[in-house]
Amino acid sequence: MNFNAESGETEPARAAQTLVPRVPAPADENEVMFDQLEYLVEHVTGEGLCGCSDCRRYLRARAVLLEIFEYPAPAVRKAAATLPEAA
Ligand SMILES: [Zn+2]
Repeated sequence: MNFNAESGETEPARAAQTLVPRVPAPADENEVMFDQLEYLVEHVTGEGLCGCSDCRRYLRARAVLLEIFEYPAPAVRKAAATLPEAA
């Protein structure tokens, strides 16, 4: 690294400054997910399930997020419901 007495910076540092594009930093993906979830929850809370594409997104997200609380799994429950009762 060469120190530039004029600017008081090392050359690579100055080069990096000039190469960094001036675009906003990419959004934090987790923040975007929280925002989307909040939006979808507010949609169905306010208007109820109206059947639009946002409602369908809400139901898909809900199914994924709550799947660990589904015990036994819906498929297992459904199969179990068709079994004859034990005598
Ligand atoms: Zn809707």
